Amino acid sequence: MKKALGIDIGGTKILYGIVNENGEIVSEVKKTFTPKTADAIFSTLKTIIDEHYTEIEVVGLSSAGAVNLENTKVLSSTPNLPDGYNQIDFSALCDKKVYVENDANCACAAEYKNGAGKGFNTVLMITIGTGIGGGVISDGKLFRGAKGNALEVGSMKIFADKRQKCTCGRYDCWESYASGTGLKNCATKGAKEYPEFRESIYKDKQPDEITTYDITDGIQKGDAYSIKVFNQWMEYMYVGLVSLTDIFNPDCIVISGGMCSFVDTEMLEQKINAESVVTDVKVLRATTGNNAGMIGAAVLAFG
Ligand SMILES: [Zn+2]
Repeated sequence: MKKALGIDIGGTKILYGIVNENGEIVSEVKKTFTPKTADAIFSTLKTIIDEHYTEIEVVGLSSAGAVNLENTKVLSSTPNLPDGYNQIDFSALCDKKVYVENDANCACAAEYKNGAGKGFNTVLMITIGTGIGGGVISDGKLFRGAKGNALEVGSMKIFADKRQKCTCGRYDCWESYASGTGLKNCATKGAKEYPEFRESIYKDKQPDEITTYDITDGIQKGDAYSIKVFNQWMEYMYVGLVSLTDIFNPDCIVISGGMCSFVDTEMLEQKINAESVVTDVKVLRATTGNNAGMIGAAVLAFG
């Protein structure tokens, strides 16, 4: 069976390992800190590839940012990676095929091949962290769009009347309501608007000091304000997901990312199926975790 080197380039660390065609990791997963300059990132990647050169057919790289159509460069500026990063031509790293893809698309491929989406034909993956990312695979093929930047679902607008400014500078992006940042925004707004806040365990805090941790902890403690904030957050998530279900008609939606353990997948599945005009969809939690980027990049590199 063919083998790929899967490399996940994060803002603080680079993860790598050998992945087979079934999307299984067949080596130890190694980790190194992400260097502070673009040149140093290039040479670190080169060293990692040289170490494994004889064992592998292809190299798959997972990175934040928008990737070009040729899958050789990251075009957009990536806030957690150094200046010059978007000048790197990853195909120059070695004479074997080197394939770079956006991290959300890689996570989608990982879940499709060997995660919660395994066995399904059409998988929509939504990653919920500080922001929201997404990917779609149908018939084994990643949907990339005209320039390779499809599924920027976090920027999808859910209101037209400029209710809330997003960190990107635009208004009413889905991610300003339904991401981790969105949950915090719901908490701040709820503290000002919900009568339950006056009886809440957080009543002595300033509205903008309440954290996402406070809300998830408050739910465990049965705090009525926290429960109301959480339900509002789920409502925003549902609104985006039901539209995406109608657009892509997926067999399943896989929820991944730092916030995924807090998401009520059962409730979302019921509500989406009650409202969507397309046939039934499953809502599942991702299973590939921290290995998603590595596995997905390798799977996509095989092509
Ligand atoms: Zn935005």
